[in-house]
Amino acid sequence: MKFGVIGGGLAGTALALRLKSLEQEVVLFDLPKENTASRVAAGVLNPVVLKRMNSVWKGEYFYSKSVRFYKDQEKFLGVKFYYDLPIFRRFSSLAERNDWEGLIHSAWFGKGLQASQSKPIEGLKGEHGGGWFALSGKLDVKAYLNAVHEYFKQEGCFHEERVELDQVDGYTKVKGIDHWIFAVGNKFDQEGHPELKGLHKTKGEYLSVRSGHVWPGMVNAGHFLIPEENGGFKLGATYAWNEEDLEPNPARIQKLESFLKSELTVSSKVEGVISGFRPSTKNRRPIMGGAKNRWFLNGLGSRGVLMAPGLAENLVNHILYKDPLFPEVKMEV
Ligand SMILES: Cc1cc2nc3c(=O)[nH]c(=O)nc-3n(C[C@H](O)[C@H](O)[C@H](O)COP(=O)(O)OP(=O)(O)OC[C@H]3O[C@@H](n4cnc5c(N)ncnc54)[C@H](O)[C@@H]3O)c2cc1C
Repeated sequence: MKFGVIGGGLAGTALALRLKSLEQEVVLFDLPKENTASRVAAGVLNPVVLKRMNSVWKGEYFYSKSVRFYKDQEKFLGVKFYYDLPIFRRFSSLAERNDWEGLIHSAWFGKGLQASQSKPIEGLKGEHGGGWFALSGKLDVKAYLNAVHEYFKQEGCFHEERVELDQVDGYTKVKGIDHWIFAVGNKFDQEGHPELKGLHKTKGEYLSVRSGHVWPGMVNAGHFLIPEENGGFKLGATYAWNEEDLEPNPARIQKLESFLKSELTVSSKVEGVISGFRPSTKNRRPIMGGAKNRWFLNGLGSRGVLMAPGLAENLVNHILYKDPLFPEVKMEV
């Protein structure tokens, strides 16, 4: 079978690689731009809502699928882009610490929780200590996307070309495409596709920070601190609905800068601000499905790294083998 995958972000690349692994023919269409959701993503892979200490939807499933997927792709593509990296969760009260201890034995992700400690890690302030969570990692998203695009280019199956839904029936430049899968992130066209009405853009910003301090992992202390390979770190990301322009919001940026001054004990220098839009839904679940020869995967929100591989597998297995789609995200067509 021959597939046209439209969109070369986290969703589209996971679909294309899944199809390839099942020996299907794939043509990947993309408009690579620096500010797509995937290219600005910080790369955190985390199956738990740390603020509330509960699992994201199907967190255990998506965690095991995604870690295996990125590690397999590293071998297949010959490029390093995935790093197992724990998260230090700072507690804001003693109650949080007690809850943490209870979860070690009661939650599926308890196997990733280490016993709490009464002091925070070096570089971070905090009077109630914290704990390490190890079922997490970091994807160098740009390195991953570049490697996948390069692979499809070498195969002669990458087209830097815009393809719209209403074009596909008459599409003749690439012959014989049986199925089209749209994974276009924020470029969903709500007017033309009532099925995608639930999608919204949510804006996110983070700071790019230089620091001489070596962080032993990621940190969650109200904001996320994500160490970079170059010795610096990212701080963010913020979350805002109903904003159309990419210009960083001064009040939110100031809050991030205040965090650096008030919560860290090491010096740091802000080097830049990065902003982008997540393709999101109100209930924070993705949407997926389609009919005949047109399929969609979108709305990955702030969990694209975690969810793209497992969702892509489910959608591809549905198209090829009629496996049922996850009912919670199945879109009505
Ligand atoms: C600031 C910020 C930080 C984030 N941090 C994280 C994080 O740490 N961890 C995490 O899991 N998620 C994070 N996210 C969310 C993550 O970026 C998204 O969930 C994910 O990137 C969505 O991927 P996608 O493939 O659906 O969309 P996109 O990345 O938008 O990809 C869609 C692609 O399709 C192309 N395209 C669109 N229309 C067409 C067309 N008509 N023809 C051809 N090509 C087309 C676009 O150019 C683009 O390349 C973050 C997002 C933001 C904004």
